[in-house]
Amino acid sequence: MSQPVEIGTLPNTSSITIKKLLSLGIKNSSDLLNYFPSRYENFSLISNIENSRPGETVTIIGKVIDAKFQIARTGLRIQNFKLEDDTGIIEFGFFNQPYLLRVIKPGMYFSVSGEIEIFGRKTILKPKEYEIVDSLKPKKSLLKHTGRIIPIYPEKAGLSSKTIREKIFYVLSTLSPSNRVNNLDRLLPEKIVLYNGLIDEINAYRNIHYPVDFSDLERAKARLAFDELFTIQLASLIVKRSWLAEKTTNNFYFERFENEINRLIKGLPFKLTTAQIRAWNEIAADLKKINPMNRFLQGEVGSGKTIVAALACYLCKLNGYQSVFMAPTEILVNQHYQTFLTLFKDTDTKIIKITGRDRPKSTSNSAVSVDDADIIIGTSAILNRNFNKVGLVVIDEQHRFGVSQRAHLKKKGVNPHLLTMTATPIPRTVALTLYGELDLSVIDEMPKNRLPVKTHFIPTWKRQSCYRWIDEQITTYKNQVYIVCPLIEESVNETMKSVKAANSEFEKLKKIFKNRSIGLLHGRMKASEKNETMKNFFYKKYDILVTTPVVEVGIDIKNATIILIEAAERYGLASLHQLRGRVGRGDKQSYCFLFTEKESPQIYDRLVFFSKTSNGNILAEKDLEVRGAGNIYGTQQHGFIDLKIAKLTDFSLIEETKKAAEYFLKNHKLSDYPELQLRTEINLEKKVSRD
Ligand code: ADP
Ligand code: MG
Repeated sequence: MSQPVEIGTLPNTSSITIKKLLSLGIKNSSDLLNYFPSRYENFSLISNIENSRPGETVTIIGKVIDAKFQIARTGLRIQNFKLEDDTGIIEFGFFNQPYLLRVIKPGMYFSVSGEIEIFGRKTILKPKEYEIVDSLKPKKSLLKHTGRIIPIYPEKAGLSSKTIREKIFYVLSTLSPSNRVNNLDRLLPEKIVLYNGLIDEINAYRNIHYPVDFSDLERAKARLAFDELFTIQLASLIVKRSWLAEKTTNNFYFERFENEINRLIKGLPFKLTTAQIRAWNEIAADLKKINPMNRFLQGEVGSGKTIVAALACYLCKLNGYQSVFMAPTEILVNQHYQTFLTLFKDTDTKIIKITGRDRPKSTSNSAVSVDDADIIIGTSAILNRNFNKVGLVVIDEQHRFGVSQRAHLKKKGVNPHLLTMTATPIPRTVALTLYGELDLSVIDEMPKNRLPVKTHFIPTWKRQSCYRWIDEQITTYKNQVYIVCPLIEESVNETMKSVKAANSEFEKLKKIFKNRSIGLLHGRMKASEKNETMKNFFYKKYDILVTTPVVEVGIDIKNATIILIEAAERYGLASLHQLRGRVGRGDKQSYCFLFTEKESPQIYDRLVFFSKTSNGNILAEKDLEVRGAGNIYGTQQHGFIDLKIAKLTDFSLIEETKKAAEYFLKNHKLSDYPELQLRTEINLEKKVSRD
């Protein structure tokens, strides 16, 4: 394609329009071409006036013979026009658009698309789109708004679809005519285009905006979807390649220490699940190599990821290296610290936790110094420290993928193994497409002792009886309850608004559960207060813990068996599933109650589907289907991926583009393809900034 030009240089473009375009991130002609229509209007039936039938959507081209202003009996101001062709005369009118009388003048040739209607005894045209043309038979390729399949663009930032269409039409008219001989595809090598049965780039852009027919449109979409996924795959492969070329710090590698590891496994109070063993074997195989591991461990909430990571830390210790174990909050740091102390009590593993963002030096209640420790547990703040001999970094409850942490570590001259863990169900296709550089282990099996959480959608009229039921459960079984306040804003950081909502919910609940002790937890509390609250909940001082939605993933309190979620309709299913995972972590029957603020058949269907489905991956796939990938991660994540045209459910295209990207890297040099290089670099940048 030709070199992109800045939008400032487009003809007839006001500075206001330029500002609006810029606010949408449209800086040049190439950005414009990649602003795709949300739908199309088919105005391709060009009809003469005599043959136009009521109910038809047509385009009529004629000469304006009358233009006048009228006031209807209802008081509406109407701009009325008459159009004549060789076969007759037809009227059409607009409401409250006085400027049209200044633009559309008798004698002009005019093309107007819309629906033919009977109005009183007259046949009229209800106009949708129109434009001035140069004759009764204008060239079809010169029609922008009528007479063909017309693109309708998303109207954002106050830009009308028509304005965007004008601009894109102009850019398309500057592209050289599509001709394979002198107009080679600029993005992809010819071979890849041909092998994958793609149409060429310019044709694709022409047809995505102005398809000649709908099969052309499909071919255009296929080509552009290919480009989109291909460039993503390429970025992943490039990252993977450079990672594979890396070596661990001083080329260290681990011996297996099978006996010691097995002894630890045998000492556990439970048997590892098959999935846990498989994940561990995959990790152990990575740790034998001198290439640093980049593994992503995904597993349902409560599937037992911690123990798998702990085994990796133990192997690291046996080999004389330190592990750094990072959790997102201090509460989780404390929880892991306790877990690890118990787990390693019969070994000589030295464990230390570092808490307190502000005082990185304070090592709490431990005689072990950082240099002596085998396992160092803390929040991400600990990455700023220098460690003696770090061989492994584990990042727990990460919704992102450690690319930037890795870069950070490397800058400090250490290149340890990296294990990233999440309970966020990530559809395999997403993981393999967008994070193709990572190796993936999945724990897709729950420990045997678990009962599925019974999930119920509670209509408003049953709210009180649900509260009563919960109250009785507390009395009878002494189990504990989470109540999750409404999600106010989908934001990673809790806002004051959310905190307010939590406070008022707290006050309300104190009245409802008069005889219960209730704790409150939200992100704006001091770390020490949070710890205190969690400790109280853990030691059963509270029956009920009221929390905001963004707090405390990963909390593992077995006696908490009921979770009540307010305004459940505001969440993606995957996020709801995360919340539900706070209960059902032991062998007691657990319950999840969904309250809603709104009720509608769609909300009902979605929540009932959720109630019946306990598999996080199915829920994530459903989110993908219904809400698009960007929304899977709901509260946790924004702009995770925004594919413009390709679909992550298109498995075969994902496969094809992956193969094509591999072929490209084997046979071509990226620097020979500047346009492709540019787009790949943008994807590489996204990888890091997403992190
Ligand atoms: P998550 O994968 O959500 O991080 P955890 O690692 O916190 O889950 O494990 C949840 C609970 O399940 C912990 O109390 C842990 O001790 C227990 N657990 C882990 N693996 C098993 C197993 N194979 N059988 C029974 N319980 C297990
Ligand atoms: Mg966990």
